[in-house]
Amino acid sequence: MSVIFGETLTFGQKNGPDVSLKVFGDEHYARYETLSGYTAIYDDDAGMFCYARLAAGVFRSTGVAVSNPPPAGLARHLKESTVASQAKSDARKARRSAIANSPVNENVVRTFGPNQGLLEGRVLSKGPVRGLTILVNFQDVTSTATRADVEDMLNGANYTRNGNISSVREYFQTVSSGKLDYTNVVVGPFTLSRNRQFYVNTLLVEEALQLAVASGLNLKQFDSQNQNIIDAVNILYAGQTQYLGELWPHNYSINLQFGAMRTDLYLLTSLGRTAADLSIGTFCHENGHLLCRFPDMYDYGERDGDSVRSAGIGMYCLMGAGNHLDFGRSPSPVCAYLRDLAGWCDNEIDLNAAGAHEAKHSDFNTVMKFRTTKPNEYFLVENRSKMGLDRAGVSSGLAVYHCDIFGSNEQQQGTATQHYQCALLQADGHRHLETNVNQGDGTDLYGAVAGVALSSESAPNSREWDGRDSGLLLSDITAAGPSITFATGQAVPAQNDSGEVTPNMTIPDNRSTGISSSIAITSSGTVSRVRVSVDIEHPYIGDLRVTLTSPSGRRAVLHAQLGGSTDNIAVTYDSASPGVLTTMVGQPMKGEWLLNVSDRAARDIGKLKRWKIELTSAHVGVSLPAAAGAGISGIY
Ligand SMILES: [Zn+2]
Repeated sequence: MSVIFGETLTFGQKNGPDVSLKVFGDEHYARYETLSGYTAIYDDDAGMFCYARLAAGVFRSTGVAVSNPPPAGLARHLKESTVASQAKSDARKARRSAIANSPVNENVVRTFGPNQGLLEGRVLSKGPVRGLTILVNFQDVTSTATRADVEDMLNGANYTRNGNISSVREYFQTVSSGKLDYTNVVVGPFTLSRNRQFYVNTLLVEEALQLAVASGLNLKQFDSQNQNIIDAVNILYAGQTQYLGELWPHNYSINLQFGAMRTDLYLLTSLGRTAADLSIGTFCHENGHLLCRFPDMYDYGERDGDSVRSAGIGMYCLMGAGNHLDFGRSPSPVCAYLRDLAGWCDNEIDLNAAGAHEAKHSDFNTVMKFRTTKPNEYFLVENRSKMGLDRAGVSSGLAVYHCDIFGSNEQQQGTATQHYQCALLQADGHRHLETNVNQGDGTDLYGAVAGVALSSESAPNSREWDGRDSGLLLSDITAAGPSITFATGQAVPAQNDSGEVTPNMTIPDNRSTGISSSIAITSSGTVSRVRVSVDIEHPYIGDLRVTLTSPSGRRAVLHAQLGGSTDNIAVTYDSASPGVLTTMVGQPMKGEWLLNVSDRAARDIGKLKRWKIELTSAHVGVSLPAAAGAGISGIY
């Protein structure tokens, strides 16, 4: 299924020239606006798009064609009532189901993936699969794109025509790491019996298949599983995409019998007017449904018990809005979540193991996974820098997804019971995808971050949907590029420890060994900040040398016989400002910290009255215990 967010598209009219309108909606319910913001509907009596008015919450035609000025007093951006739009959406779904007459139609159009996160039905995401693609012309609309043009776009090697990044076959070979080899046999063009407008209200699939079969096509070649089922039927109609009625690009099931063979799932979309219109995005998205049973990763607005529209995964997956990138010529990759479900990743990097990790761009064969104690809920990390299949991406850097195969991208609430199936944790904390502000922006992915980037306390956070701390902590992320490194570790809250002693020890005159005083620290952790205060009484501090030694033996010289005849040292040294204590950052906290004071010249004497050390720990990269559910393949 395909959803449109205010794109300007061209529509044919029975009694008028093509018109440009903005479209909002999906195959079940859509709204159209003129470029100046007036709502338009197709007026069947006039055979043209006319300005709409509202009558009791329902659109009615004003009878004024949109090529004329709007009627006086008409308001812009009219919307039907929820009751009216829901009724129309339900009616369309019911009509589809009646046509489909298929046992799997209950679940074919849901975002929620009832089959381990995938849609129900046959999964054909591995091995050689041969699809059937039928080209059709209308009586009144034809395309100059040829069968050879389409064969090239679907099956070609090193295909880059029209700025497409690859052919459809190459796209799936890339994202599946060679596991899915999807080719198409292209037939036609066949000419349908009626004008295009007729097929807004009458599904053309059966007529197109009958024309193909009548041409002598052997359907058995499309049955990769030897089940007498045609694996994938793709029907491309002449002319521009009509985001209207039964011509809205969609996939569904249809049960038609041709001898021993029957149909199952089909795709209907446009071929374009000329070969210059050919782009792979929508074809790849719809075949993601047909072959791999991927659910949609965007939010239909009205489904799975939720009526608030959000952006779901936005542009960050082929199965979200990513098929539209660069006008469909450079679709997003299939995100790591769906690649993993498709069984396309041979390598799994365990992010529950603390340490440094490397995320390579275009390494589609690898999934980086952090498991929670729930087998269905986990986090994935992926390099989505702007290159390769991400060349048209809106953001660049490291992506972190919060996944739950029982979730639905219809549900943007982010609560324990209502949450996405695959949520991008937007690094900027703005949650623009959940609030439907956009389909992605430049600050959604993680760029370079020194220190902690994601934890249970950050925004966004790494807590599980029920609020529990998952233990995932990401830190020290390097900048976008072919290779991004980052660290994982258990989130240990920063802790403070300190000690103070009052030795009142006399400093022996002119003796380099001096005196030492120690403070024992019991907290473990790594020093992120240290402050040392000393109080030394001495009439000539130019004689004195003061050093601090950490439990691991690292030494910092705090005072090095400077200051001449000045009296006393009563100073606080702080690693927060670069200086003598900088080398102590990163040292283990626990153990004996030693202060040594020596008098390196004769005559003046003094004493170490008091000193104090204050330590703050950073998080530590402690190995996480294996999650209880890890590795269990059970009921989920
Ligand atoms: Zn879809």
